[in-house]
Amino acid sequence: MSGCIFCRIIGGDIPSDTIYENEKVKVFKDISPAAPVHLIIVPKEHIDDINSLDAENANVIGDCMLAAKKAAAITGVSESGYRIISNVGEDAGQSVRHLHFHLVGGVPMGEKIL
Ligand code: 5GP
Ligand code: ZN
Repeated sequence: MSGCIFCRIIGGDIPSDTIYENEKVKVFKDISPAAPVHLIIVPKEHIDDINSLDAENANVIGDCMLAAKKAAAITGVSESGYRIISNVGEDAGQSVRHLHFHLVGGVPMGEKIL
């Protein structure tokens, strides 16, 4: 297994504020929130980013979106709305090289958040 920071969070070596978890996906609060609700949705399988998806592993995206929907309900933003973002590479400012989605909400958002 990779020693990347999200793999260590998934493995329990680094504590996180978990909102939802199942066999395939973990959802936890971002350590540096950009909105009142700011969650990180990660597949438990280490995949670097969207560029590394292929026909074999792309099903993790559906798993992540189902977990996102559940986490949105748990954190109370299902009705008010939320945004899901995945940064890929340098220009997008990806800082953790383990595929993840940001779920942000709890405030009306302009175009610039994340
Ligand atoms: P990226 O910039 O790669 O799209 O997003 C990485 C996100 O992970 C950042 O928003 C950052 O605040 C968050 N993050 C980095 N390290 C940790 C950590 O140890 N715990 C938690 N909960 N979030 C982290
Ligand atoms: Zn990883």
